[in-house]
Amino acid sequence: MRVGVLGAGQLARMIALAGVPLGLEFVFLDPSADACANRLGEPLVGDYRDPALLAQLAERADVVTYEFENVPANVAEFLVSHTQVHPCPKALAVAQDRLFEKTFFHDIGIPTPDYAAIDSLENLEQAMTTIGYPAILKSRTQGYDGKGQSVLKSPDDLKPAWELLQGVPSVVEAFVPFKREVSIIAVRSVSGETVFYPLSENLHRGGILRVSECRANDPLQQQAEDYVSRLLEALGYVGVLALELFDVNGKLLANEFAPRVHNSGHWTIEGAETSQFENHLRAILDLPLGSTAPVGHAAMVNFIGGLPATEDVLAIPHAHLHLYDKAPRKGRKVAHATIRAENAEQLSESVKKLAELADQVDDS
Ligand code: AMP
Repeated sequence: MRVGVLGAGQLARMIALAGVPLGLEFVFLDPSADACANRLGEPLVGDYRDPALLAQLAERADVVTYEFENVPANVAEFLVSHTQVHPCPKALAVAQDRLFEKTFFHDIGIPTPDYAAIDSLENLEQAMTTIGYPAILKSRTQGYDGKGQSVLKSPDDLKPAWELLQGVPSVVEAFVPFKREVSIIAVRSVSGETVFYPLSENLHRGGILRVSECRANDPLQQQAEDYVSRLLEALGYVGVLALELFDVNGKLLANEFAPRVHNSGHWTIEGAETSQFENHLRAILDLPLGSTAPVGHAAMVNFIGGLPATEDVLAIPHAHLHLYDKAPRKGRKVAHATIRAENAEQLSESVKKLAELADQVDDS
């Protein structure tokens, strides 16, 4: 079996690392010849929209998946008409546009922060009379890791924020006083078998994920499973999906979802019986899904902008280093470490040590 992946970054690389033991082969399509997954399979180098390359990908692969959600709709449609593609193009279309995404959440009964669609400065001024301060203005498309966003604290912020976004179609949403940010990673196979990982509790700084900790037996697990199940059903989804949520005093509000394997699920590589990457492959190949049970207490720390010394990470008991083989660059995710522990105290001590190493190399 050969799996085609659109994109050959670290997520594609970790998908391939999970697939090799299952006897799978990989073919990647990415604009960069140096992309970090390329050495784990056959690289096709060029533009994602190049019909000749897409035709080659479809011909070479038994099933195609992707590692990023900004796959243009016509690219997804082309692939669907030539081969099996999971997840479906509809999931991409909804996840690519924050307004569609929020409307979709509402239609299926998943609560979100209050929001309004924005097309002009007048529109924004009007919307703020009901949304109230503080709020956050986000471009509808192309935003990730906090990019294309501005916090609005008073009416004086509206004009500069709108100008910063260069007047692109946007949404404004209430800035919610969350107690914590969590995500749930769910997996659904071609036959409809569905499994959920325990909640990840996520710490962001500057809009970028820094630390995720597995929260086994979290009181909000059931609520999160209910919401993500609705999403899987409504989309007819196949593969791994991550739903990011705000915990506002025990009530979950959806922020966004990613139709792919997700950074907040990296702890599953050593911290769960089956990793999110292996389960994604099992799901799209219609194999039985693996247990999502955590193996002790587990967490993940991202390295952004720079690499730690390997020996410093490995000196921490139960730490595993995952290098992405990417050149360090400001604000770029270049590695992560997963960590396991026998109890919560030991875990928080190890996370603290790893976070210190991450801060030493972080230039963002
Ligand atoms: P996003 O790109 O939508 O994931 O936003 C990046 C980060 O900004 C989130 O992980 C939150 O830490 C913060 N954020 C986004 N939207 C809100 C909101 N409505 N209220 C409070 N914080 C938010």
